[in-house]
Amino acid sequence: MSNVLNTGIKNARNVMRYIYGVGTLDSLDDVLQERRNNTSDYAIYFIDSYFYGNNQLVEKLCINHFDFVVYVDTTVEPTTEYINSIRDDLAKQNKDKPVAIVGIGGGATLDTTKAISNLLNNPGYAEDYQGWDLVKSPGVYKIAIPTISGTGAEATRTCVMTNKKTGLKLGMNSDYTVFDQIILDPDLTKTVPRNQYFYTGMDAYVHCIESISGAYRNAVGDAFSDQTIKLCREIFFSEDMMDEDNRAKLMVASYLGGCAIATSYVGVVHPFSAGLSVVLGLHHCVANCITMRAMDQFYPDECQEFWQMVERQGVEIPKGVCKNLTNEQYDQLYASTVIHEKPLTNALGEGFKDILTRENVKEIFQRM
Ligand code: NAD
Ligand code: ZN
Repeated sequence: MSNVLNTGIKNARNVMRYIYGVGTLDSLDDVLQERRNNTSDYAIYFIDSYFYGNNQLVEKLCINHFDFVVYVDTTVEPTTEYINSIRDDLAKQNKDKPVAIVGIGGGATLDTTKAISNLLNNPGYAEDYQGWDLVKSPGVYKIAIPTISGTGAEATRTCVMTNKKTGLKLGMNSDYTVFDQIILDPDLTKTVPRNQYFYTGMDAYVHCIESISGAYRNAVGDAFSDQTIKLCREIFFSEDMMDEDNRAKLMVASYLGGCAIATSYVGVVHPFSAGLSVVLGLHHCVANCITMRAMDQFYPDECQEFWQMVERQGVEIPKGVCKNLTNEQYDQLYASTVIHEKPLTNALGEGFKDILTRENVKEIFQRM
């Protein structure tokens, strides 16, 4: 390829170990036993609050007397304030020296787990580490157990957080953010509501169509992207995206999609989607799907394919979310979209602002 740009990512890191298969949640206890040297050694579990009161899950976890559980509220995506407050609470309760941290949930819960792991072994506040390679010491040993598939948060070297004071939505991009162990048990995604399953699942597809059509490329990342897109097509063009085989496949696609994005950049969809999240508070994955209503000029074939998948699975994508906004809101949408220079350069070149003028951006949002 002649126009390929260097990603600047020199030495990619993947998760250290993975266990995959139906029922593998049962192996968590053994994995944790290896970390426990004294009877008082404890683990901290971050569990998606959807599972609060779900005894079936909790029984399987073999939580012991010294362990500690935090239920993660996912109504709002993680903020730096929220991360700091969890860390402070753990310190108050003398639970800030765990031998392991376990995250059980979706992207929001896994990102919370990663951020806390880093923050327990590094001084200061979550916002001090928003950026690239700012984390100085390895975090606490951490395990991811996804319960919804698509974001790839189980595989990546970031944990997305919003700093409400500055409006900055950025993760701790660091090798230390990568999980030490992941357990991929497709049984855990059975209960995800269909629309949510589609929105989050499509994050994997969108990451990979963006990265594979960009200018910054990595041959290993391309191979991960190819396979992720192939799996997504099989899943979302089949009769039931949530049957047992498809839930297993999507768990793999999510992981591979995360590996793909770890070596490359997203494109036009994510910056627009981020605008919707920052200005209108829409969650990441549904915001991507809404954005796909107006991406045909950038990704014509993929858009067509996306809407065929929506139809095939009979899911609902919200419509008209940017109608009747104030000029001030359109200005905020514009600012929070074009700020994503790296992905937009990846997709449209350095002159991306000539294509994404204020008027064009407004018109694109209005079509959503
Ligand atoms: P999420 O974690 O917010 O979960 C979505 C919803 O599904 C929640 O209501 C949750 O309670 C529910 N849920 C999860 N598992 C369930 C189950 N088994 N049964 C029933 N309900 C279940 O959402 P997500 O879409 O997985 O993740 C989005 C988040 O991930 C955003 O905060 C985004 O910024 C982040 N993200 C991170 C990365 C990364 O690389 N770290 C990449 C992409 C997105
Ligand atoms: Zn995404």
